[in-house]
Amino acid sequence: MVYVNKALERKENKMSRPAVAPKCEICETERAIIFAPDCGRYPSEGVPNNWKFLCKKCNTQEYFIFISDYYQNQRQTSDWVQHLSDKNWFDIIDFGDMLMRYQHDWEAAREF
Ligand SMILES: [Zn+2]
Repeated sequence: MVYVNKALERKENKMSRPAVAPKCEICETERAIIFAPDCGRYPSEGVPNNWKFLCKKCNTQEYFIFISDYYQNQRQTSDWVQHLSDKNWFDIIDFGDMLMRYQHDWEAAREF
């Protein structure tokens, strides 16, 4: 019985290992804390958004979102999507691609 419990403990420890937050897509060393379109100082209509998750240092954009704010709760996330959708420059496909890369990096950090 003790032996089984030890095995379970090991399994739980492995599963509860803290996940590592995704790194900035530019410097790849600092933790990403911002979602921002990487397209000059301010996004404009017709210019590719090029959304990235970034550390504070690598962001050159006046328009950005704190990731912690975006994911604060479900209401906040849908408010942000609504808010962005009202912008004439917003490319939801590009934004969605970035969210998928961000999610993938979280999952990749949990494997091994
Ligand atoms: Zn960076």
